[in-house]
Amino acid sequence: MKKTIVDFSLNGKKVIIRCDLNVPMENGVITDETRIVESLETIKFASSAGARIIIMSHLGRVKTEEDKKTNSLLPVAKRLSELLNKEVKFIPSTRGMELEIAINALESGNILMMENTRFEDLDGEKESKCDEELSKYWASLGEIFINDAFGTAHRKHASNVGIASILPNGIGFLIKKELDTLGSAINNPKRPLVIILGGKKVADKLAVIEHAVKIADHVLIGGGMSYTFFKALGYNIGASVVDDASLDFCKRIYEENKDKIILPIDIVVGTSFTNETNSRLVDIKNIGNYDMGLDIGVGTINIFKKILLDAKTVIWNGPVGVFELEKFSTGTRKVCEILASINANVIIGGGDSAAAVTKFGFKNKYSHISTGGGASLEMLEGKELPGIAIISEK
Ligand code: AMP
Repeated sequence: MKKTIVDFSLNGKKVIIRCDLNVPMENGVITDETRIVESLETIKFASSAGARIIIMSHLGRVKTEEDKKTNSLLPVAKRLSELLNKEVKFIPSTRGMELEIAINALESGNILMMENTRFEDLDGEKESKCDEELSKYWASLGEIFINDAFGTAHRKHASNVGIASILPNGIGFLIKKELDTLGSAINNPKRPLVIILGGKKVADKLAVIEHAVKIADHVLIGGGMSYTFFKALGYNIGASVVDDASLDFCKRIYEENKDKIILPIDIVVGTSFTNETNSRLVDIKNIGNYDMGLDIGVGTINIFKKILLDAKTVIWNGPVGVFELEKFSTGTRKVCEILASINANVIIGGGDSAAAVTKFGFKNKYSHISTGGGASLEMLEGKELPGIAIISEK
C-alpha cells in the first residue's frame, strides 16, 4: 500500500502538493473546473492539518514565449481561492528569490501556488525531461511531497517523479481514489469483469486490448475500432473508419480470444459524418460500399446488455459510436443507461467516455469517473505509472 497524506505529520511543514490543475481554458476563462474541484480535498486536508502548502501544476504545453501568456496558472489560483474561500498566494515564477521568500513566509495552513511547471520546458524541456538540477531545486523548496496529479502520473516529469525521488513522499486523496477504484478493478476485480472498448483509433489501444483479454471475462468492442476487426475478418466495411496497419493484430487477437471478444452484430450506417445523412440499420454482413458505420445497432445493444446485466465490475473506455452527432448517439446513450441500472462496480475511463456520460446526464451514476485519460489507459495496459511507482510503500 502506498503512503498517503494522512501518514504524515504536516503541522508547520512545507508540503509540496503536485495537483493536476490542467483545466481547459478559452481566452483566460476556465471552461471546465472539474480538475480544480477534484483537487480540493487534499488541499483542504493539508491546510487544516497546519501544512505550509506549495501547489505545483502544469497547464497545457509551453513551447514558445507566446505560450506563456495563454498558459499562466493565475486564473486557476484565483478560482481555487474562491472555491476554498481562502487566500491562494500566486507567484508568477517557477524559481528564484520571490518564490523562495514567499515560501519561507508561509504560515501554518497558508497556501501558495507557483507558476506553471511547464514554463521550465522553454529552456531544454527541464520539467518534461525530469531534469536533475530542476528536481533538486524544487525539492529544496519543501520538506514533504504529495503527488495528487493522476492525469500526469503516466509521465516521468521533474514535478512528480523528480521531486518524489528526493523528498519523503505520499499520494493525495485523488490518486488514492483512482487506485482504489480503477486500480483495484484492473488488478483485483469482482467477477465477471467486463471491459467495454470503443473510440475511433484502434492503433492507440492495441496494448489495452491485449491486456483486456488477459484480465476480463468479456471484452465488448464498439465504435470506430470495430471496423478494423471486421475488415481483418473479411467483411466489407464500406467507407467506415479503418486502421490498415492494425489488421494483423486484430485478426490474431480475435482468433485467440473468440470466446471473450464480442463484436457488434448490427450497426447504424450513414454516408457522411453529419446529422443530415440518411441512416439505416444493417447487419454487419450487409454493409454497402458507400456506408460508414457510425453507431452500434439495437441487436448489438441487446447482446451487450445481456452480458452487462451479469457483470460485477465494468470498465468503459471509448464511445461506441459518434456520440457527438445526435443521430448516432443512441448506442453510447444506451450503454450509459445500462451501466447506470446494473448492480456492479462501474468505472468510466477518462477522455471521451467521460465526456459522453457527462453530456447525457449520467455523471453521478457510476462508482468512479477517472480524471486521467492517458493515465487510465496506461493502467488498463497493465503498466505501472512512474508518478505512482516512485511513491513509498507503507
Ligand atoms: P478515441 O479518441 O480513439 O477514443 O475516439 C473517440 C472518438 O471516436 C469520438 O469522437 C467518437 O465520435 C469517435 N467514434 C466513435 N465511433 C466511431 C465510428 N463508428 N466512426 C468514427 N468515429 C467514431
